[in-house]
Amino acid sequence: MASGGEVISNKQVLFKNFVEGFPKESDMVVKTSSISLKVEGSNAVVVKNLYLSCDPRMRHHMMKGKDPGFVSFKPGSPLEGFGVAKVVDSGHPEFKKGDLVWGTVGWEEYSVIKNPAESLFKIHHTDVPLSYYTGILGMPGLTAWAGLYEVCAPKKGECVYISAASGAVGQLVGQFAKLIGCYVVGSAGSKEKVEILKNKLGFDDAFNYKEEHDLDAALKRHFPEGIDIYFENVGGKMLDAVLLNMRLHGRIVVCGMISQYNLNQPEGVHNLMNIAYKRVHMMGLIVFDYFPQYSEFLEAVLPLIREGKIVYLEDIAEGLENAPAALVGLFSGRNVGKQVVVVARE
Ligand code: NAP
Repeated sequence: MASGGEVISNKQVLFKNFVEGFPKESDMVVKTSSISLKVEGSNAVVVKNLYLSCDPRMRHHMMKGKDPGFVSFKPGSPLEGFGVAKVVDSGHPEFKKGDLVWGTVGWEEYSVIKNPAESLFKIHHTDVPLSYYTGILGMPGLTAWAGLYEVCAPKKGECVYISAASGAVGQLVGQFAKLIGCYVVGSAGSKEKVEILKNKLGFDDAFNYKEEHDLDAALKRHFPEGIDIYFENVGGKMLDAVLLNMRLHGRIVVCGMISQYNLNQPEGVHNLMNIAYKRVHMMGLIVFDYFPQYSEFLEAVLPLIREGKIVYLEDIAEGLENAPAALVGLFSGRNVGKQVVVVARE
């Protein structure tokens, strides 16, 4: 057991070098260094990391400063991402030893957080699994909530389509849409995921996009009268097919385009004129814009979990050694549900 002031070993997942194409496990290496558990300098905190979140956005940080708004990971330093942690020492007046927090941490056993008030939220509700703060109660949950309710403003009876529907964000979008009486169809990349969407997550229907040679025909089969709301997670050919199937005054929220993240040259989209023909509103979403609404979101979603009105599927990888494989697996659909890495269980 480590106590404040002690210097102890700190296992880390280090980023090796900038990535082209699909990320590989060998783009990261697990090494052990040491860390002082005593805060040096005021305002910082030292945290013990418990759960780490694997997010597709981390792929952008693996590139050399290409995307505006994304700070590249530093070669030779730990990856960074969202996680749940416990404060072991604090020089910040708002945080004390023992506090549970979620926010941006390093991929390592212990992290020094220099500006905790800017990068960490305190966790006050612990009657739900702590790992949920990487998913349903963290960044992906807020993304689903804001993208559906704030951006798309769904109405009862509307037809909602979600791609990457069984993942961290998609599974929630579908359940949120069902709660207000929408007709919800999702797509995912395996038979197992399709069964989960229909039988565990309460989607009205689902299909395996990898088995569909004609995505346009698949969408026409599921939405004979068209799509009112498309929650876009994958981009590419799927977006092209969706554009052909949007209804008049439909809404598309562009949350992500994971099918494009590992391509050197993004695919083109051919059916954009449908946006005009059908007066479609197509809007971009960046979850960080909604962080000021986090408390409101939490108040809305916690009761849904407690009352069993919403469920959340997690895919748990044990230990930092398995973190590189877990992260890389997002890009081949290996994860079933929210991909979490357990570093320690308190
Ligand atoms: P996730 O769905 O839990 O995991 C990624 C999934 O994407 C995989 O399991 C896989 O599922 C699917 N996928 C991977 N490669 C694909 C490809 N080439 N074509 C189609 N599907 C592919 O991830 P998530 O965290 O929920 O994120 C979903 C999307 O939301 C991502 O695009 C992410 O970048 C975006 N996002 C955006 C924001 C924002 O602020 N805008 C915030 C959070 C997430 P299948 O088995 O179904 O293929």
